[in-house]
Amino acid sequence: MTQRSITIVGAGQSGLQLGLGLLQHGYAVRLISDRTPEEIGAGRVASSQCVFPTALSYEREVGVDLWDDAPWVEGIGLTVPHPEAPGEKLFGWAGRLDRPAQSIDQRVKFPALIELFASRGGEVVYEQAGIDDLERYTQESELVIVAAGKGDIARLFERDAERSTFDAPQRALALTYVHGLTPTEDFSRVSFNLVPGVGEYFVFPALTLSGPCDIMVFEGIPGGPLDRWAGLTPEQHLDASLDFLREYLPWEAERAADVALTDDLGVLQGRFAPTVRHPVAVLPSGRSVLGIGDVVVLNDPITGQGSNNASKSAHIYLQAILEHGDLPFDRAFGQAAFERYWARVKPVADWTNALLLPPPPHVLQVLGAAAQHQEIATRFANGFDDPADYGEYFLDPAGAERYLADVAARAS
Ligand SMILES: Cc1cc2nc3c(=O)[nH]c(=O)nc-3n(C[C@H](O)[C@H](O)[C@H](O)COP(=O)(O)OP(=O)(O)OC[C@H]3O[C@@H](n4cnc5c(N)ncnc54)[C@H](O)[C@@H]3O)c2cc1C
Repeated sequence: MTQRSITIVGAGQSGLQLGLGLLQHGYAVRLISDRTPEEIGAGRVASSQCVFPTALSYEREVGVDLWDDAPWVEGIGLTVPHPEAPGEKLFGWAGRLDRPAQSIDQRVKFPALIELFASRGGEVVYEQAGIDDLERYTQESELVIVAAGKGDIARLFERDAERSTFDAPQRALALTYVHGLTPTEDFSRVSFNLVPGVGEYFVFPALTLSGPCDIMVFEGIPGGPLDRWAGLTPEQHLDASLDFLREYLPWEAERAADVALTDDLGVLQGRFAPTVRHPVAVLPSGRSVLGIGDVVVLNDPITGQGSNNASKSAHIYLQAILEHGDLPFDRAFGQAAFERYWARVKPVADWTNALLLPPPPHVLQVLGAAAQHQEIATRFANGFDDPADYGEYFLDPAGAERYLADVAARAS
């Protein structure tokens, strides 16, 4: 077989991982990046990028294993404040992950992976791809994959109204990267706090440019008291973060008493509508390009799954490309590769979208019961690695009832 050529637009989680995988299998891969490694490293944070073990294992399969010494996330904790007693907890618990997760600031990770890609023989071109460029790539390569995340070029892919649950942003998002947070006891974790009617706060250890840090993630219901981020200086952003914790989550404020920003670009605020798009976009010439990662399935970060989904999409597309052998990469190929990914990501989107809505009674029952039964806490924690598990006992009221009855019977 002659060497097949593939162009990937976007050097982020999905593009880099797919590119490295294709190089391993002898493809000629060109990666288009709108930013150099230096520009990414000197830029703003973009994510909290906590990657769970299955997605990490897919990175390892393509030879990415660079941060063994970086902080690990060993579990998931969940706390709900008491609705009638300000400053007190209604319940709180934590479950261990079977295998740990890890968050490497994309300003550290992407430059390192671009270098790795180039050192393994990949071609990197620094330009911001527009439609004319896509036309050119489709003439020069057998397959063009658009891995541009939330970049403007993703709008080339039409929104899939049937598969999209929302048409407006569901949360005002903010990130605050800090040094000096007090660690959790026993084991490191994503500490989730759900404040009904207001939003969510979660925080966990990570690696950033200046070393180990913690990432605070705020998810405010639009128009509510946690929608407070627009137009702030970095110091005001930190103050707004801490003011919220002091008012709603004093146990988290206590942990954050001595924090400082990691850097002035260690803050982010914004909002976007969770969106599923059709995977194949047709260019003016009639040639087509295929979307991957956030371009095709953009979820709210409330469940911390976007990088995980991007890793899974890269893994699935790599398999699809390998299995396709030397057949032409036509639109049917692209649609079929995406459908394989959709089968995997739909349960993630269902769970993520459910958490954006007010929790129904059975969800509160399951979360409350986890405070009494460690096995529920452990199962919930490990669902972050494989969210398909939530379908059975968390999203389905009858399944929740059955599961809680089983757990209670086992306990007695
Ligand atoms: C606040 C927040 C918190 C998050 N927290 C988590 C979390 O804890 N866990 C998790 O799994 N996910 C999280 N995510 C989501 C996660 O970061 C993304 O889903 C993931 O990075 C998507 O990967 P991707 O490959 O699709 O795109 P990206 O990783 O975004 O990469 C896209 C790349 O394409 C480049 N690009 C864009 N346009 C062009 C162009 N025209 N030409 C060339 N290059 C271009 C961009 O510069 C970028 O480098 C979070 C997101 C946000 C906003």
